[in-house]
Amino acid sequence: MKQQTTCPYCGVGCGITAELSANRILSVSGDPQHPANRGRLCVKGSTLHETTAPEARLLLPSIEGRAVSWDTALDKVARQIRQAVDQHGPGSVAMYLSGQLLTEDYYVANKLMKGFLGSAHVDTNSRLCMASTVAGHKRAFGADAVPGCYEDLEIADLILLVGSNAAWNHPILYQRIQAAKQANPSLRVVVIDPRATASCDLADLHLQLQPGSDAALFNALLVYLADQGHVDHAFLLQHAEGFEQTLATARADTPDISIAATKTGLDSHDLTRFFRWFAATERTVSLFSQGVNQSSSGTDKVNSLINCHLATGRIGKPGSSPFSLTGQPNAMGGREVGGLANQLAAHMDFSPENVDRVQRFWNAPNMASEPGHKALELFNAVERGEIKVLWIMATNPLVSLPDTHLIRRALKRCELVIVSESMADTDTLQLADICLPASSWGEKNGTVTNSERCISRQRSLLPPPGEARHDWQIICEVAKRLGFADAFNYSHPADIFAEHAALSGFENAGKRCFDISGLSRLSQTEYDQLQPIQWPITADAPYGTQRLFSNGKFFTPSGKARLIPVSSQQPMQQLTDEAPLRLNTGRIRDQWHTMTRTGRTPTLFRHRAEPFIDLHPLDAATHALQDQDLARLENAQGQFIGRVRITPGQRPGEVFVPMHWTQSFSSEGRCNVLIESVADPISGQPESKQGAVRLSGVVTAWHARLLTAKHLSVNLRGYWARMPQQQAMGYALADSDWPESWSDWCLQHLGQRPDLSLQTQPNGQLRACALENGKLLWLLLVSPDKHFPDLKPLDRQFTRSNLTALQQLNLLKSDQDSASGELICSCFQVDDPTIRAAIQSGCHSVEALGKALSCGTNCGSCIPELKALLAQEAEDVTH
Ligand code: SF4
Repeated sequence: MKQQTTCPYCGVGCGITAELSANRILSVSGDPQHPANRGRLCVKGSTLHETTAPEARLLLPSIEGRAVSWDTALDKVARQIRQAVDQHGPGSVAMYLSGQLLTEDYYVANKLMKGFLGSAHVDTNSRLCMASTVAGHKRAFGADAVPGCYEDLEIADLILLVGSNAAWNHPILYQRIQAAKQANPSLRVVVIDPRATASCDLADLHLQLQPGSDAALFNALLVYLADQGHVDHAFLLQHAEGFEQTLATARADTPDISIAATKTGLDSHDLTRFFRWFAATERTVSLFSQGVNQSSSGTDKVNSLINCHLATGRIGKPGSSPFSLTGQPNAMGGREVGGLANQLAAHMDFSPENVDRVQRFWNAPNMASEPGHKALELFNAVERGEIKVLWIMATNPLVSLPDTHLIRRALKRCELVIVSESMADTDTLQLADICLPASSWGEKNGTVTNSERCISRQRSLLPPPGEARHDWQIICEVAKRLGFADAFNYSHPADIFAEHAALSGFENAGKRCFDISGLSRLSQTEYDQLQPIQWPITADAPYGTQRLFSNGKFFTPSGKARLIPVSSQQPMQQLTDEAPLRLNTGRIRDQWHTMTRTGRTPTLFRHRAEPFIDLHPLDAATHALQDQDLARLENAQGQFIGRVRITPGQRPGEVFVPMHWTQSFSSEGRCNVLIESVADPISGQPESKQGAVRLSGVVTAWHARLLTAKHLSVNLRGYWARMPQQQAMGYALADSDWPESWSDWCLQHLGQRPDLSLQTQPNGQLRACALENGKLLWLLLVSPDKHFPDLKPLDRQFTRSNLTALQQLNLLKSDQDSASGELICSCFQVDDPTIRAAIQSGCHSVEALGKALSCGTNCGSCIPELKALLAQEAEDVTH
């Protein structure tokens, strides 16, 4: 049987066709009918079916580690919320939500908190992702609305990628750009990013600007547009306000190209080229993402970019739009129902009229009338003891928020931490008083909204495992116990969606941009069959709306768009003698967020297996570091240890680390321990991309690979990183002291001395293993250097039920090892050495490699890396 649903990872929001049999998802493929992806999926989406097994799931409710019935858990949650509200007021209760929740989950959570308990302390991990865009949109358009649509990428003649590595983070959209460029060779792509990322593969121009200098760049562009006569005065006169003041501020900030060059660190000729291209190209789409948003002046950066679009009237027209790429699958849906602490439901704010309107619609007894704490303020309030009950849903703040130590202190201090979670092993769950098992992708049933305002159905394909329940059901059960049964008596997510849609149209009459009242009368069957549709959806636009603002009307009091004066700012996290390097953090191609889902798929670890530090060759030389060495980044707050990757794609003096590794996956791989708790004062979004750190090498006497049977628990010290294999659990290990006895080491860390071991020479290579009834329990490979064989053949030995004496002996010998290499193409499992060998044997193009090895022919996410390998091999031949 086949069923259509939507991918739960990035904001592209691809449609998926799942093949089901006997309560299992056998395979997934791209839904050819879905307008976002038209049948394609990236490697993360393509491996979704591998993440749905019930192992590692949270299956039972528990209190203080003891399994309890749902009634016991829900009674306690409701009792303690009631007690906190009675004793300390509504502001003592808070929720921290997630862009992984469906719109229906989000809606009831907000309704309970803001309408019935009277607390607006409801924020979401979307605060870390696009809060600066929300604030920028509201300032410019009077509404949090993305003007354009994906189709604009195929119509544009110039595409900017600003602070966005779309090739890795929005891969299917990047492939649409790639296809558009092939179809229209005059389409230009400009990448604006401090790093040379995989997205530069398509770039006609890469502006490798100084981190945080985006506003100076766009201020200079605005001045250039004005001085060179490229401003659309007719549009400004009729449809916008604030141009003169904005231009004067931009001129005072960045008056000319030479000052822009100094502020951004860019070459004047490159700046001039970019400005000329922008000025001359009517159909320009500016895609922007976390590189702009995650800044202490992110809102201003967003507006500095939108200012240039408004000044040239490039909005609401085919192929012309500023375009925010959201990180999460339902960041937009969360915004729609008021998931941010400074918003009410249906995109309304906390103005007295809107508070009154929502109160009347809900018939709410305790309506919050003021915005609540944004994420960082919220956890600060928890740490101060002001929040007594904190309910966290579907997110892992102990890993994802800045200043991990503060978050840990806050959670420890809080009287009651409730965590609704689908996975059993998250860092945050370890600090929960009450754990509530929640359904996950493949089980959940509801809607999500992607980056182009397209609402799609995520459908329930499997029953939740164990006693897991849907988030909306859990929230409604608590609401009923608090005495609000009438308002939370939903029997299906379709009921919740209909109410949400009705609220969006309530007393709207075109005053509010977010209006999906055209869907408020859907029957359950129609809801189940709902096809992707872009909001607004109203009586006038029953089939949705592709582009906004085409009529030149905005949602500000005057009906005009606003240009916002912006002065460029330095990052708040200052470089010092103790922390002289600029730290950038971000995503990688094959992992998602804190790995709770992608961490279950061994395939996705072969691209980047361990936490790493990208370094420029000059910084590596200054610190005497070689590629693949272990190195430490530290500052006053904490430390991160990762594998060095030397790349000229970094600017000197700047390092990049991935955001995904957690305490469950690594000894010291959490990047947020290094980021200070500072945020944009308008949006509250943390400055995650401009930390300050120092770098040093980590002394190592040995390195190892460990494979263990999956049920075995180990007690590791020193450096370790978990790298799941198909059959066994894998680890990379390293430490500074060579143990006096490896046998003792094994006993201490693996719980058992080896049954067999072979050491080639003192302080040389060692292999050891333990068996249980002829079955492999663990296998340890120690080496003084960092070279290890391909683990796949060894991993397969864990399937054997009775290893013969010869097979056991072979485990210890290295003469049959095959070389290991980094995985480049995850879809077809093609690694670096195989691709290099194919290039050396005559495959001199991506197409030729695809023909010979299939790499790059499915999702296409690895094509930039294939091109880089082709270039490297060509360079090696030249030299
Ligand atoms: S591009 Fe995003 S939404 Fe599409 S399959 Fe990949 S992760 Fe999922």
